[in-house]
Amino acid sequence: MKNQISLAQGHAYLAIPGPSVMPDAVLRAMHRPSPNIYDGELIELMPALLDDLRRVARTQHNVAIYIANGHGTWEAALSNVIAPGETVLAPASGTFAHGWAEMAEGIGAITQVIDFGTSAPWDFDRIAEVLRADTAHKIKAVLAVHVDTSSSTRNNIPALRALLDDLNHPALLMADCIASLGCDRFEMDAWGVDVTVTACQKGLMTPAGMGFIFFNDKAQAKRATMPRVSQYWDWQPRIDPERFYQYFNGTAPTHHLYGLRAALDLIHAEGIEHVWARHARLARAIWAACEVWAKGGALHLNVTDRSYRSHAVTALRLTEGRGALLRSYTEHQLGLTLGIGLGMEDWNGCFRIGHMGHVNAQMVMAILGSMETAFAALDIPRGQGALEVAAAALAA
Ligand SMILES: *Cc1c(COP(=O)(O)O)cnc(C)c1O
Repeated sequence: MKNQISLAQGHAYLAIPGPSVMPDAVLRAMHRPSPNIYDGELIELMPALLDDLRRVARTQHNVAIYIANGHGTWEAALSNVIAPGETVLAPASGTFAHGWAEMAEGIGAITQVIDFGTSAPWDFDRIAEVLRADTAHKIKAVLAVHVDTSSSTRNNIPALRALLDDLNHPALLMADCIASLGCDRFEMDAWGVDVTVTACQKGLMTPAGMGFIFFNDKAQAKRATMPRVSQYWDWQPRIDPERFYQYFNGTAPTHHLYGLRAALDLIHAEGIEHVWARHARLARAIWAACEVWAKGGALHLNVTDRSYRSHAVTALRLTEGRGALLRSYTEHQLGLTLGIGLGMEDWNGCFRIGHMGHVNAQMVMAILGSMETAFAALDIPRGQGALEVAAAALAA
């Protein structure tokens, strides 16, 4: 290693794919004493907050909030529409799809997983084969992870909707857009998604601890046929509360609600279409740099086809277990923390760049410049001129 003196002192940058960078406006909004939860401001902010959440997910339908992370919301969604003994189908492009499927198994569902590995999107021929064979319609839901954060694969949700419609298959389309909401284009109603599951700490830029489920009338009809739904996860009182505490089945996540209010203000001031376009543009600059580095032979983009890459996270592979070394170098020598390689065969060889939420062009150049520095310090072979192509992609 050439650099011995750490250059990490200064403003540290956590560029992992969740939790994401917290905007100062969100932190400021949360820095206050506990509010009254029986009367006043907090209660009054709910209707507009719910409307603004719906706008981000592009839905007119119901939204329920949970004090839970993404895993909690996975279970909450399943608990409302999947009874023990019912079957769910999980096409998997990474470790999160397997995780949701395991959770379904945990509540007594029969799980059918179609595994597409760790760097490929769904293959619709194989999904069609399974759905066609299900003539008795035993499959009650398809668990569709939009962006699998482990592999950074982005799947085509509208095409899955079209397939279900073509085959006249009545299964619910349940989408996990935890890593895509507020980053990649996601349009729940236009895309015909029945249940959307998400959490607050990625594109929604709020400290981890809240999850959201959006669901339409078809999902609500399935909920009505359930023999029982666990009381805490039940979405019914949460969408139609007589009292404020029923939104959360207990004490509200007080400060998170103020933080989320500030985050939604940022998103809607920028405009969701612009938010998506910004993420796309920043992602293209990162890919352009990585594609140049890849010419040196050591670095590989995990997803080869650009049209299946997330705009919020990029998974990368280095040869010979150098991913962990690179992450350690950028964190301890440069003050930049990159994401671990999650769910890959060679965890230590892989790493991920989080570029979701409160991220702009100069932050992307800092990530890329730090990576260039680490490659140099660690003598990792790479193509030359990556920063120039990234700059050109941002300037275009
Ligand atoms: C982060 C993430 C999860 C898990 O969320 P937690 O809040 O860590 O429980 C699930 N699915 C996807 C796609 C994610 O990105």
